[in-house]
Order: sequence, then C-alpha cells, then structure tokens
Amino acid sequence: MKHLIIEQCYMCSGIGNTSEHVPPKCIFPEIKDIGQDLRKNLIKVPSCRKHNNSKSGEDEFLLVFLASYFFNNEIGSQHLRGKVSRTLVRSAGKQIRELFINKGKLKEIKIDHHNSIIFGTPDLKRLSDIFETIAYGLYRHHFKQNFDGEIKVYFESLLYNDENSKKFNQFIVEKITKEVEGEDIFGRNPKVFFYQISKKSDENILGLRMSFYENFNVLIAYKKSSNIMYDAWIGIADTVYITTPSGDIKIR
Ligand SMILES: [Zn+2]
Repeated sequence: MKHLIIEQCYMCSGIGNTSEHVPPKCIFPEIKDIGQDLRKNLIKVPSCRKHNNSKSGEDEFLLVFLASYFFNNEIGSQHLRGKVSRTLVRSAGKQIRELFINKGKLKEIKIDHHNSIIFGTPDLKRLSDIFETIAYGLYRHHFKQNFDGEIKVYFESLLYNDENSKKFNQFIVEKITKEVEGEDIFGRNPKVFFYQISKKSDENILGLRMSFYENFNVLIAYKKSSNIMYDAWIGIADTVYITTPSGDIKIR
C-alpha cells in the first residue's frame, strides 16, 4: 500500500506539490561553464505553484546582482563571464541597469573592451525581499518546519550613504556574525553558497549568515515573537541606544 505524504509549502499554508531550490539553482554554475560540479545536493523545499513560479524573474535579478558583485571569488567571476554574460546579452544589458535605483546617477568605468564597472545604489528593497524568501526556505530546510514570525535582512558588504543607517547596520551585522562564528557550515557547494545558523535557537532572535561566492554575506535575524527589547534590537523601534565604555550612542 502506498502512502501519499502531503507537504506544506514553505511560504504559505498551501500544498507544496512542487519543489523549490533555495537559494535558486541558477547561481550555481554548470559543469559546462566551470569544469567542475557545483550543483551537488542543492537545497530544495516543498513549494506551492504560486510560490515556485512567481519569482523566476527574481532569480535572474539575484544572479546578475551576485555575479556582478566586484569582490567575488573565482567561481563567481567565471559564472559572470559565462552564464551571466549570456543572460545579459539576451536582455541587452537591461538587467544590469535594473539592479540599481537612481538610474540617472549610474557611473560606468571601462576597464577594457569587454569589462566595465558600474557604480550605483542597488535596489535594496528588491534584494531584501529576495533574501527574505531564501531565509524562509533555509529555515524550513534546517528545522523541517515553516518559520512563523518576522525576518529582517542585513547586508554585510554594501556601503550605506547615510551615517546612521551605516552604524546601525554595522552593529547588527557584527552581533549576528559573532553569534554564528565557528558554527557548522551547511551547503555542499560552499564556494558558491553556504549558511551558518546560531545554536541558541531557544532565544527569541535567531541569527543566520548566508555567504555567496565566499564574499557576499547576508545576515538574517529571525524574530519569533514580539518583545520591545528585540524590536529595538532588529530595528523596528524608532530609537536605539548602544552602551559603550565612552557613553551611550544614539544610533536611530
Ligand atoms: Zn505557497
């Protein structure tokens, strides 16, 4: 007798009758592009059709962003020259411009005939939403249950123009980094992607670090329930003070 196991979608209460890669499969180079297999045992979670099909455009946006990021390892750079270049040629450079807001302010510096560096402000809202979805997927994969709470996304490697945002972001990034430092590395292709998760899962806030191409790191705070101290901690509260030996600093 066969038993049918019905699993729940990682994002909603719907039936997870498809499977979704977290992070998306496209960021893992194929053998034909890179000469080595970096698609071993990719992480998959059950997903309903809506949450699987709705974000293929977002997958491509993430791919172009990550592979274009200047300080990647060799795998990221090779992926940029291979698949990502093909994607860019197909969409005639539109994707690169889509990464940024204030498109009028983009600065481009040509390095040689083929390469140039573009400086601009990335669309952080769109990126945050994408990383938030990945964070839901990783939680489901790691704990075999859906995360029911709020997720906050912080970027380790991006520069913030505004001094207060910069300080606050740095504070959170350091806090989560300290929590996950030395923890096990999950992900079978760590040159492309791995994550680390805080062991103190009984606490109200759970920290996670995702690392892409060994260089672009995203920190996640999973907030399980509401509490004024934790709201301040992850930046929901209006005002946050940090106590230091030289006195309190108001950072928000
Ligand atoms: Zn769903």
